[in-house]
Amino acid sequence: MSSAPLPQTSATVPPLPHARELDLEGLEEALRRGPARRPRELALSLAAALYRHGALTRDEVAAKTPLGRERLAAVESAVRLGPLLELERRVPSQADGGARLVFSVSRLGGKEAVEAVAIARRDDLTLCLSSQAGCALGCVFCATGLLGFRANLTAGEIVEQHAWAVRTAGHRVTDVVFMGMGEPLLNYDAVIAAAYRLTRAEGPQISCRKIVISTVGIAPRIRQYAREGHPFQLFFSITSAIPEKRARLMPIEARYPLPELREAIDEFVRSRRRNRYATLQYVTIPGENMGPEDVAALGEFTRGLKCIVNVIPYNAVIDRFRPPTWREVSDFTRSLRAIQVPVKVRYSSGKSVAAGCGQLAADLIAAGAPSGHMTAPPGIFSDLHG
Ligand code: SF4
Repeated sequence: MSSAPLPQTSATVPPLPHARELDLEGLEEALRRGPARRPRELALSLAAALYRHGALTRDEVAAKTPLGRERLAAVESAVRLGPLLELERRVPSQADGGARLVFSVSRLGGKEAVEAVAIARRDDLTLCLSSQAGCALGCVFCATGLLGFRANLTAGEIVEQHAWAVRTAGHRVTDVVFMGMGEPLLNYDAVIAAAYRLTRAEGPQISCRKIVISTVGIAPRIRQYAREGHPFQLFFSITSAIPEKRARLMPIEARYPLPELREAIDEFVRSRRRNRYATLQYVTIPGENMGPEDVAALGEFTRGLKCIVNVIPYNAVIDRFRPPTWREVSDFTRSLRAIQVPVKVRYSSGKSVAAGCGQLAADLIAAGAPSGHMTAPPGIFSDLHG
């Protein structure tokens, strides 16, 4: 019996990877699969254009690389080029040369907004990056938390915030902090990949020591980070060392309570080859976590832990909370020092542009929001989250 010919089906062709989602090795591998000659050399040129020179569009890649038309065509047969984010708004700082950048994410249909904040201080430019659109963790003092979780950003989308910041600031970024929208350790792989990409020789060459990842305390990920031995700094947002209070301010406490967090921090400190101490972040909110019982609990939490406590005065505009006065901050830190807790006060230099981190994103979301969609009230600089 002769069998009838099978009907022709059109094979599904997987989409090409986007160049910015690949590091040097990934670019080389993708180019090897295409018709390009000397893929290593081509990958190096492309990585330098994307990551060192911050080329965003195809034309910019062409201008920043010594590729002729033919080689550029070979590149485009292996990877996609073009921006992953659209810059929706740039709000310059009145206090310094910094700015707040609000993006929409093309992959998400341009609907979700994320922010990066560039903070200029003398010759330094610190960039605060977002790792997620929105955040699931719902810290009650944070506008991003009120937005709820929208999406994880890819490594490429995180790194592209850097390219836009350099372009708009016209200045090299010296420091990077993952303290923007989202909890970085809940988007672990993308954040770690992005952090490494920012250090690469063919890229922005930011020192590992100048990259800070801040977490509210995802204990299993902190332990994973310690085991894997990454070279970036990890900061821990405590905000209260009294479990009931912390649970009220930061619902993550119910999932990873303070004793578990403390153990994970210990593990992290022990895993470090240098800088064997922990940086704890403590957002001070009058009437919430600045009383004598809060000082005593923080003293207890830090006992035997090599650490420094960064006291961060709350700078929010959420009605429920107010920023502390200088006097309140100084009384609080004096009480901590009196019981041998090492303290530093960190005022957010990004205050003038970032005092409402999440706020501009919320504006954008609100503009096209479906009914019932939560819109955030004015928020805070997520510096507070870490
Ligand atoms: S402070 Fe950080 S972890 Fe908490 S809700 Fe805001 S972005 Fe999320």
